[in-house]
Amino acid sequence: MLLPRSIRLLIRHFWFICLLLVASALPARAQDRLNVVASFSILGDFVRNVGGERVNVTTLVGPDGDVHVYTPAPADAKKIADAKLVLINGLGLEGWLARLVQSAGSKAAIVTATQGIAPRKLGADADPHAWQSVVNAKVYVANIRDALGAADPANAGVYRANAAAYLAKMDTLDREVRDAVAQIPPARRKVISTHNAFGYFADAYGVEFIAPLGVSTESEASARDIAGIITQVRSGKIPAIFLENISDPRLIRRISAETGARIGGTLYSDSLTGEKGDAPTYIDMVRHNIRALTSALAN
Ligand SMILES: [Zn+2]
Repeated sequence: MLLPRSIRLLIRHFWFICLLLVASALPARAQDRLNVVASFSILGDFVRNVGGERVNVTTLVGPDGDVHVYTPAPADAKKIADAKLVLINGLGLEGWLARLVQSAGSKAAIVTATQGIAPRKLGADADPHAWQSVVNAKVYVANIRDALGAADPANAGVYRANAAAYLAKMDTLDREVRDAVAQIPPARRKVISTHNAFGYFADAYGVEFIAPLGVSTESEASARDIAGIITQVRSGKIPAIFLENISDPRLIRRISAETGARIGGTLYSDSLTGEKGDAPTYIDMVRHNIRALTSALAN
């Protein structure tokens, strides 16, 4: 029996049709989501918490990466070109970004997550590490909520609800930091870190940080600054010194070797870790840092 021609065609192309159906169904769901690029891992975590299931978040500088000295890859231009929204820290952190956006020919909205935060100034430079105060991190989250709502008004209610839940967790986190610092005797609230990344934490919570490097890891420590720090550690004025996940550990190891001061652990300053590390999320990062500080300083 001869089947009609249309049926024969259908049978012959059955697998091809199946493949087409599967291929069209898969990206459709991903396409419904808002494509958002975040410049670095901490910002990416904020966007994930506010955007939830409604956004595809791509991070340019990934876990344990150093955003100060990043060199964009060709794939980054593609990520920016595909994005509807690009979230940046601003305050001079992403010096490499303007050229990347230009070369990508992107029409994406670029939103600065630190809008409304009064920057710390170090000479002429703004200190970009505003996220290290949880109070400031809440401003980032509010800005991200508004930026997502503007880029995707249909889901603005979802972003508002997600942000409200996340902001409540941040209020708890801020109290945890204050309670932890309160356990440290005031005279011992003084540490050394590699670069000047904890100024906002210092201002908000009253722990003094001294760093041989400036607010960017681009600079090099001067011999005079290092000698000054070694003198302070030797005289017992600074009880603890810390490594950073993004910085070369040699300088801190040298200060430790010359003074005999024990290294109190690693602080996470500018980057989260991968899933299996100590700080896969912002909240984990802050908790890790306050545990490291209190265990080195409290007694
Ligand atoms: Zn930094």
